[in-house]
Amino acid sequence: MTHRGLSASDIRKRNRFGLLSLVHRNGAIARNDLASSIGLTRASVTILVGELLEEGLIVEAGSSGGNGKAGRRKIFLRIRNEAGKLLGVGIDQERIQVLVSDLGGTVLGVRNISLPKVPRGAEPGTVFAKAAAVAVGELLGGEGAAAAGVLGAGVGVTGRVDPDSGLSLREPRLWEGTVPIREPFEAALGVPVSVNNNVRALSVAELLLTDMKKSPPAGLLLVKYGPGVGAAWTPGGLPWSGAHNRAGELGHTFVAADGPPCPYCGRRGCLESLVSAQALGLALSMQGSTVETLCAALSVRDPEAFALLASHFARALGNAIELCDPSVVTLYGSAFRDSALFSEVARRVEANDRPCEIKRSSLDPEFPALGGVALALERFFQGGGTIGK
Ligand SMILES: [Zn+2]
Repeated sequence: MTHRGLSASDIRKRNRFGLLSLVHRNGAIARNDLASSIGLTRASVTILVGELLEEGLIVEAGSSGGNGKAGRRKIFLRIRNEAGKLLGVGIDQERIQVLVSDLGGTVLGVRNISLPKVPRGAEPGTVFAKAAAVAVGELLGGEGAAAAGVLGAGVGVTGRVDPDSGLSLREPRLWEGTVPIREPFEAALGVPVSVNNNVRALSVAELLLTDMKKSPPAGLLLVKYGPGVGAAWTPGGLPWSGAHNRAGELGHTFVAADGPPCPYCGRRGCLESLVSAQALGLALSMQGSTVETLCAALSVRDPEAFALLASHFARALGNAIELCDPSVVTLYGSAFRDSALFSEVARRVEANDRPCEIKRSSLDPEFPALGGVALALERFFQGGGTIGK
């Protein structure tokens, strides 16, 4: 949209977005500092702040100074996290997770449900949405989402996803062909729904819901392990989907000359064919176990194979770092909480003298649906903090 094409309502929405984002990122910010930080006049900021205070989206959060001639009294503002709720949904081949949070991303309730059986001829998106809506109803005490103060929902789903159309384009581990996600979830939940690939959704959560929000990195590469391997690259704070919504398939880059056939890409030697829960489960005769259990077992039973796994991971990660040049890499998943795997992978990548920080994700791997919460929060802010599409 050109600047000339912006309506007064678009400008108001954009200014509210800027202000809400700034207050959210800072946790608390002095009212006097807002105008200079977002490039608006003091008068405009006064009007916007007045509106947001009246709507209860922000509150005054104490003051400092003002005693004597040395400086003006500062009144701080923060987001009123209890002003609304957000719904996050995480779908992978193991489960659906449904989560309710406040506007600050604090988890208020969570349900993990097994994947529903899709009857012949039924739309998988509709079946999954209805199953999620039942769990949401339980979490909200039987109230509808909108009536319970839910401002929006986000769905993170594995595989290839088009966030604009809200379609799952390809996820053979869950369903066949293209499957609408946003439409059936909006119908089942009755609130606006954003959809993205689950790892891209988690990268938004890392940027919006952890301490990283205070000083967002120029480029974040988030890598998720378990049950497969996925990555999300967020140059300038926005997840890059790629020209065909297939960016970030780190698990299907080659790391070995041979290996078992990969059920997702069909080739041999990709990272997932060697380190996925399925591949490790087969190798260790422990099918159905999580990658963290499998990695722990492997490190005890076969330290050499464990070292090889870390090398395969580090090789793929090293290639991704060369390609993207991130300032920060975060490794997400319960397996990386185990210091052995994290340090073995990080050590091998760092041995190549790459100038970026590699650390564990600050997101709790027990709550993958926080990715959905972050998508919903981002949309809510982008809409200027108003409910609607
Ligand atoms: Zn593969």
